[in-house]
Amino acid sequence: MFDAPVRRGKDSPIVRRYGAGSLGYGWPGPRQRWCTTRLKDMPREKFLRELRKQYRVKEYIGIAADEQYRLERERNKNPDHVHPLVDWNMTEEDCLRYCYGHGYDWNGLYGQFKRVSCWCCPLQSLQELRQLYKNHPALWQTLKEWDKRTWRKFRADYSAEELEVRFDFEEECLNAGKPIKGKAFFSELKRRLEVEA
Ligand code: SF4
Repeated sequence: MFDAPVRRGKDSPIVRRYGAGSLGYGWPGPRQRWCTTRLKDMPREKFLRELRKQYRVKEYIGIAADEQYRLERERNKNPDHVHPLVDWNMTEEDCLRYCYGHGYDWNGLYGQFKRVSCWCCPLQSLQELRQLYKNHPALWQTLKEWDKRTWRKFRADYSAEELEVRFDFEEECLNAGKPIKGKAFFSELKRRLEVEA
């Protein structure tokens, strides 16, 4: 993310915007999930490639019954993929209940987050990021440090520091019984972000 010597042509939008010395992949974005490819897909494929020399490998994919739209995607149409949760009609909620019933509660993480994936993912929702800020200050601190080290802003709309300004302002509004959306909220937020910049 910070240091990989990624080769980019001089016409690459990243070089044009951030300069030729921009090292590393930076934060992932909606069209650039390099982490999924490099840290999940490639190591898994490397491992399975060896096994496939000897076996016909069946992969068990944890898509739940209420996520069947994902089966429409090309990558999920592999005939060697098995989807037991879909076959058993187990929704995400059913799965969570089943796990709780067997003593797995992930220290209450699913009470805070709808999804538990990479804690630092910039593609998670604002609500998940609010929870991270509120409940995990040490991780939030790390997130801010990483955001300063990389060329790409955490999200297109907010850096980690700007999110902090927003979440603090939301808290202030809620305590004063004011809404955290609408014109007045966003124009005051904009003013605060400009002051912090
Ligand atoms: S959850 Fe986010 S950070 Fe983690 S691999 Fe996927 S895109 Fe990357």
